[in-house]
Amino acid sequence: MCGVIGLIGTQNAAHEAFLSLVTLQHRGQDAAGIMSYSPAGFHQVKNLGLVESVFTKDNIQHLKGEMAVGHNRYSTVGTGDISDVQPLVMNYPFGIGMVHNGNIVNHGSLGEQLRSQSRRHLLTQSDTEVLLNLFAEGLTSSSSVHKPGLDFEQICYALQPLYSAVNGSFSVVTLIAGHGLVAFRDSNGLRPLVWGKKKSDVLPSGEAHMVASESVALNINGYEVVRSLKPGEVLFIDLEGNVHSRVIRAKEKRHCMFEWVYFASPESDIDDKPVYRTRFNLGKSLALQLKGEFKDRNIKPDMVVPVPESSRIAAIALSEELEIPYRELLIKNRYIKRTFILDTQDKRRRAVKLKLSPVPSELAGKKVLLIDDSIVRGTTSKKIIELVREAGAKEVYFVSTCPPVRHPCFYGVDFPDRKELVANEKNEKEIESHLGADAVIHQKPQGLVQSILNSQESSEENWTPCMACLDGKYPSDVSEGQGFSEKRKKDRKVQQSEG
Ligand code: SF4
Ligand code: MG
Repeated sequence: MCGVIGLIGTQNAAHEAFLSLVTLQHRGQDAAGIMSYSPAGFHQVKNLGLVESVFTKDNIQHLKGEMAVGHNRYSTVGTGDISDVQPLVMNYPFGIGMVHNGNIVNHGSLGEQLRSQSRRHLLTQSDTEVLLNLFAEGLTSSSSVHKPGLDFEQICYALQPLYSAVNGSFSVVTLIAGHGLVAFRDSNGLRPLVWGKKKSDVLPSGEAHMVASESVALNINGYEVVRSLKPGEVLFIDLEGNVHSRVIRAKEKRHCMFEWVYFASPESDIDDKPVYRTRFNLGKSLALQLKGEFKDRNIKPDMVVPVPESSRIAAIALSEELEIPYRELLIKNRYIKRTFILDTQDKRRRAVKLKLSPVPSELAGKKVLLIDDSIVRGTTSKKIIELVREAGAKEVYFVSTCPPVRHPCFYGVDFPDRKELVANEKNEKEIESHLGADAVIHQKPQGLVQSILNSQESSEENWTPCMACLDGKYPSDVSEGQGFSEKRKKDRKVQQSEG
């Protein structure tokens, strides 16, 4: 995934950027960076590690200017090398600083094309560099047909070829030196991007603007949400504070369902749909489904126990609906990072035990209904089931608010290898025996879609989120992405052997 932000028209933009990145830390923990722009030029601080460790009181002071972009990195392409850390910068035909959340399926062939046709040699493994070069290329040709300088028409003209060529997900924010802030979103709106504004006297318009992956990043700095960018939309805020926007190329809206299920922060709205309410709905809808299945299988749990943190909200709803007591009996060590985000299976396996520990005095002799947001590789769930049994539970049922994940994601979530997915080629019975549970039950896809769509009151929207990792129906051609997992494995081997 990754978190992106960009802001313009506010004093000390870097400080606001820092606060926003802290609120988006859950979106990526590999690296963080901020680039600001002042009349003296670009200023940047970026490094591997958490936001808190990358930025200091001193280095933030060097980030001068009234506009900035920032990034939290969760690597899906690249080696985790410092050269891949964003923002990335380009010096021609304008100074451009760029941050990107998403994944470009055809970045390999586009990189090759840039090399052979435009003599643009890429310096990093990052697919963001492909976007940056395509944007620069577009701006170069638009300045040869338009007047010198840069206006919104030129930006749109420059983005046309990028939208035609790029296959994948992208929510991008760029700073253009001396001109303003440009944000754009892929044609399916796969990854989130929200726009907000607040009063400020820096720009003639009297307003400062911010775009970010999630609304929580806007709220922390007092920006009010205007709206999410539409699929395929570009937004340009110039140095007068004028807002320009246009949909460059829209396809069917297919926002990634995983933002609501797991990834986003519960206090955010993603595409106007509150994450908290969606997760509550997921618990309720799963409970309704379980009522029937429990009756058929004569299952009568004594308690509902959430797997912290992301399934808590659904667990509360589930417990209320089933009228089974809610108990927090897996205690999370708050000093351990999210295990999924660790980069190797072995590290993840070892981390689970450190991360969660059960309460034997309460679990002993009980029939326990464990709920998690999703089962991906089965590493966490298998271990947790084992721990709960060791703690004395009589029976252990495991339910997931997300339907079975059976297919790889090529759009930015790091489960690219089909063989790693526990639900790949296994039915529910086989999953039960693999995980060692007395029952394993997943939400039905319809329950997931309705939980998202119904989370916003008075919304009559009817669209289908991307659920390709569940049903294999990808919104774009992913054949070039099939090479990903091999390449990624190779990259990781390099990383491991390096240290
Ligand atoms: Fe999200 Fe799954 Fe689609 Fe990837 S394949 S974008 S994780 S819904
Ligand atoms: Mg979890």
